[in-house]
Formats: sequence, C-alpha cells, structure tokens
Amino acid sequence: MNAVGTGAPLAERARAAIPGGVNSGQRSVPGITDLVVARAEGARFFDTEGRAYTDYHAAFGPQLLGHNDPDVSAAVAAVIREVDLCGVGVTPGEIELAERLIELVPSFEQVLLTSTGSEATFHALRLSRAVTGRRLVVKFQGCYHGWHDAVSLNVISAEDALNRPDPISAGILPEVLESTVVLPFNDAEAVRRLFADHGDQIAGVIVEPVPHNIGCVLPTDEFLITLREQTTQHGAILIFDEVITGFRHALGGWQEISGITPDLTTLGKAFANGFPLGAIGGRADLMQQFSSRPGGSAFFAGTYNGAPVVVAAALATLTKLTEQPVHEHTFRLGELARAGLREVFAELDLPAVVTGYGSIFVSYFMPGPAPRTYSDLLANRADLFVGYRRKLIERGIFELPLNLKRSHISYAHTESDIEQLIDGTRDAVRAAL
Ligand code: PLP
Repeated sequence: MNAVGTGAPLAERARAAIPGGVNSGQRSVPGITDLVVARAEGARFFDTEGRAYTDYHAAFGPQLLGHNDPDVSAAVAAVIREVDLCGVGVTPGEIELAERLIELVPSFEQVLLTSTGSEATFHALRLSRAVTGRRLVVKFQGCYHGWHDAVSLNVISAEDALNRPDPISAGILPEVLESTVVLPFNDAEAVRRLFADHGDQIAGVIVEPVPHNIGCVLPTDEFLITLREQTTQHGAILIFDEVITGFRHALGGWQEISGITPDLTTLGKAFANGFPLGAIGGRADLMQQFSSRPGGSAFFAGTYNGAPVVVAAALATLTKLTEQPVHEHTFRLGELARAGLREVFAELDLPAVVTGYGSIFVSYFMPGPAPRTYSDLLANRADLFVGYRRKLIERGIFELPLNLKRSHISYAHTESDIEQLIDGTRDAVRAAL
C-alpha cells in the first residue's frame, strides 16, 4: 500500500514508491532531491517545472552526440517497426555491430554484447579466473568498474581507508574482498612488487586506463607499459575497462592512443549514446572460452544481450562518430572550456587544477600540479567542488554536485554554451566561496 496519493508532487511520490526516489545510487544528490526530468534534447534537459539545464553530466557519460540525437532516435524507431527480441540465433545488426567494433578497437578479435558495463567487467574478471585457474584479481584505488562484488571496493576512499579493503557496499563476503588486491594507480613499482611476490596467483588486472571516476587522472607511459609487461610475463589477463574512454577519447579507445594492447576490453556508455549497451572483446583464444560457443567453460548469458533496438542505436552512433567531426568538435570545446575555467580561477586567485582529456573536463580546488594518483586528490576542497556546482545548477548549468565527478561535452554543445559555462562559473564560484 502506498500512502502518498497521485495528487502529491512527483518527487514525493517517487520517494514513497522508490527507495530514495531514484533508480540508481548517486542520482539523488543533496540539494537537488526534487528534480524530476521531463525531456532532454541536444545539450539540454528540462525538468517538470519547465526549467532548462545545459547538461555536462550526460547521465554519467553516454551521450557523446548529445541527448536524443535525431539519427540515433530515427534508427531506433525504424527497427522497432521490424523486430523486438527473439532470443534465438542472431540478427544482422548484431553481426554488423560486432564486425564494426572489431574494425575499430585495436585489441578486438571477437566481441560479445551485454546490457551494461558492470556485466562486461563481471564477465571479463570471471573469464580471467576461468582461463588461468587463479584466484586473485587486481584493481586500482579510484577506479570504478560497476556494482558487482569483486570490484565494489576502494573507489572514493577516505584517507584512513586507502591501505585496506574499503567496500562501497555492505553484504560482500570477506573472502571476495580478500580476493581483490588494490594498488595505487600509476605506481609501476607496486605492480612489479605484487607480481614478484604473488604472480602465480593473479588471474587478471583490471584498470580504467584513465580513472575518470575520480575526475581525470592521466596514466604515465611507464605504468601502462608495466601492466602489459608484468601480466604477460606472469600469464595474467590484462583488462582495460574502457567504458568511459572507449569512443569518447578515440574510436579505438585509450588503447589506440597509448599503443598498449590489453587482452580483454570492456565497453559501455558512449557507443550507444544513452541506450543500454555494454561489450566485452579481445583475444579470440580467450573469447572462445565463453559459453556462447558450445563447450566454452565461462558461462555467458543475458536475455537482453544484443537487443535489436540497442544495437540499432549503437550502429547509428558509430556511423555518426566515424562520419562526422564529433571528436574534433568536442575536443575543441573541451580546450576552450579548460582554458576559460583556468582564467576564471586565476582571476579569482583561487588555487585550482583544471584538467581533463578531449571532451572531459574537471576543476579540482587544490594547488597544482595535475593529480597522478588518488591520494593527490585528498587535497581537493570537496566543499567548494560540490558547493560551486550547486550554484551552477541554480544558473541552469548542470555539473553533477558530487565530489570528484567529471563533466562531459557533447557534439550538441556549442561555443556559446561554453561561454555560458565560463561566465556562470565566475558567478557561481564567487557565490560558493
Ligand atoms: N566501468 C566504468 C569505467 C564505469 O565508469 C562504469 C559506470 O560508470 C562501469 C564500468 C559500469 O557500467 P554500468 O553502470 O553500465 O553498469
């Protein structure tokens, strides 16, 4: 029985019927709990009160083309008239999408589709254990790889939790937490030491090549090279989690930019522009171990994997990403935004590090230089990071007001949007100080 009637405000009804009033952690943030979204188009979304927000949150990153892209929406509408979901065999769209992904992503010899990034990282880790017969997996402090137990630890940790398992959820078995080793990002020496001591127990290493779940921390060449060398030398599987970096930073992801080829790669977000799609791909000898092939030992399934609507969205997105100057445009606006924000903070004499890559930007409120590892970010003034973004929202500019979150520019943003962001920042920071 629901005590709140249908005449109550929508946000109140949401809180009565849905725990916290939202369907995913971190969608509800203090200060903007009553946000009910009505519509989204291009660079903006609109709430049920008619307010417009220029959106740099982009639903945590999928909409590289902007909201409700007309070409993606048209492809989806067309496929809905033809086929929904049959759950047997394969559709031509799935074949075409697999072939296009193999063409684009350097490490892909074969690929499987999931509905989310979490499923993709889950399967990558399970496969690494299946093929090596080993127990331990390695992740890095500050990286997020989804909601499942093996990786639900040490994302945004307090200083006193950096050197121990720091679960983001209750209910995880201690033996699962003990099976994931957490190391500092960009610490090649720690990686070498771990492999020297426990190399024969490590099934896989999973890494966001650029940890964007704490804003933007760029990897050193030495770090990524060491990951590749050590995993190869000790027979462990190297997994690049390119759920954010894939397609957004380059069509071939960070592996194209860095020239480091992982064994497995997980994808999500930007390649279906907001429709629920993930993928896992890589070396054919590994991918052949999935049970999509008869006799494969690593069970792989999902009712909605490869759903035609989502596949159509991905094909239309990839067409647009390859045929139109999406990266050129978003990278140029990214540079403009970072330069403009730096000027504003300098004018205000406020210690800040404005960083990012391409279409991603983030302003940390701390003295430079740019962070190289999670613990550098402990110097960031969380109160100002969040407070400034709340003031931006009052001005119709939406950057998620949660500490360390990155912001995204899409193909639908314009130079005048970036000017509004820079002017809005000048006012919002003053108001938040
Ligand atoms: N990996 C990375 C790098 C992510 O940022 C995320 C989500 O934010 C995931 C995996 C999980 O993806 P999903 O939320 O689609 O399950």
